[in-house]
Amino acid sequence: MKSTINLFLLFIISVSAFAQNNLEVEISTKRLVRDVYFLASDSLGGRKFPHKGSQIAAEYIASEFEAINLKPIPNNPKAYFQEMPVTKLDKGETRIFANKIPPVAGFYYSFAATKPISDSLTQPIKYWGKSTPPHHNLGDTIVHIYGKTMDDAMAHLEEIASKTDAKSFAISLPTKRNKRFIRRELTASRYSYPNSMLIRSSSEWLYHHLPKTDDTLRVFMFNKELTGDFFEKSIKSLNKASAKVGKENRSTSFPISQVTYKTDFFIKTDTLFDKNVIGYIEGTDLKDEVIIIGGHYDHLGRMPDGYCLGADDNASGTAGVMELARMCAQAQSNGFEFRRSIVFMAFCAEESGLNGSMYYANNPVFPLDKTVMIINMDMIGRPDNRPNKPGYAYTTPIGFGKVKRPTKRLLRKVDRQMSNTEFYLKQDFPENIMWLMGSDHFPFHRKGIPALIVTTGTHADYHKSTDTPDKINFRNMANVLKAMFVLITDIATEADKYPLREKE
Ligand SMILES: [Zn+2]
Repeated sequence: MKSTINLFLLFIISVSAFAQNNLEVEISTKRLVRDVYFLASDSLGGRKFPHKGSQIAAEYIASEFEAINLKPIPNNPKAYFQEMPVTKLDKGETRIFANKIPPVAGFYYSFAATKPISDSLTQPIKYWGKSTPPHHNLGDTIVHIYGKTMDDAMAHLEEIASKTDAKSFAISLPTKRNKRFIRRELTASRYSYPNSMLIRSSSEWLYHHLPKTDDTLRVFMFNKELTGDFFEKSIKSLNKASAKVGKENRSTSFPISQVTYKTDFFIKTDTLFDKNVIGYIEGTDLKDEVIIIGGHYDHLGRMPDGYCLGADDNASGTAGVMELARMCAQAQSNGFEFRRSIVFMAFCAEESGLNGSMYYANNPVFPLDKTVMIINMDMIGRPDNRPNKPGYAYTTPIGFGKVKRPTKRLLRKVDRQMSNTEFYLKQDFPENIMWLMGSDHFPFHRKGIPALIVTTGTHADYHKSTDTPDKINFRNMANVLKAMFVLITDIATEADKYPLREKE
């Protein structure tokens, strides 16, 4: 660790530009160091849900919110935690034997069932084209469904399931689509968030799209290699035969083959809770209007190259949220009047697809039409694109409308004032497009809320085990927060200058 002396400096800000003079607030790089080193420590294991490290991080943030007397979420028994249900899909052993070789899920097949199941089957597979098969003895048959798309196939499956006693299904799609769908399995998470933006695994997709019924339904998809082994035909000729039946709309059964296979599978579901951490400072005459200061606290956990500790991504932004909370709380207790309320949010599950912020945007604690702006900090500790140069941060406003001009003007002013501290605020982020959808401001932006991204940008250690706390520039972080504090106080007091967006 170098330049230790600099790391422990205290900054004093005087915000004299406002009606309320003599505001003195401390920014402590010492606290930033403490928070970043704790959040990015080995024992937190990269803060990935459901590892206990993500839970410890959430509790650490909440206990700090409590220590500085932030108000918890109103009428919430969990105080600072906004809990979000996460469905856990456990796949036990799913083994399908083809020529005695157990194939790999994701390469060769995908499978889902509506209920926990442990089973072993020997059944013929039959095909009825687009029509509904006759309602007899289908409990001992795997009904084959060929669809142009998954939606197409599932609609047919649902119809057959509702009109017959069929319980087992095999779906196939045009060859390429079939393969692509099954391969989702390999990269997908076992944890399923509400409204997830990420593509779900194939088995999870199947699980969610199977009809809700008291029966235990099961559905298979086979990739062409495996289909060949089972059907002694290529999937192409199989699909061709199936399509022909479909076109002629034949209603008689069409046995594809009499196949024997064994599966031994088990799917169980469990509901866990991931959590956003939320606390706020209540404003005065405009307390129903809120400004959100956010940053995600989760990271990637264990990756092939080791634990990703996520010091910059995003222990830095999380520490920033906490430090701004302390600064605002201190300002308020020194008599500074925030007219609007300031809400501090540490988001969970950003890395798995903006799930925490998405959940908040769909289940807001404070009305979205009274939310003036979100300031989202993601990676604010690594201004090292410019070694030995002054520090900086990019501040990119998205969807600002009327508040864009005053915000940009203020940021320019802060930039000028801070240039003597060797720090610059840049307003035209080169990776603008990537960042539009890339972090927790995006779900807010989609709801029409002005969103300011604050970041020092990506670097060579991004999403690697080498994103460690010793590389963080704490002085730069302190400068970023100093600038944001000035902006926050302005937005929280100058309501006319930063109006709420107009309702459509
Ligand atoms: Zn991030």
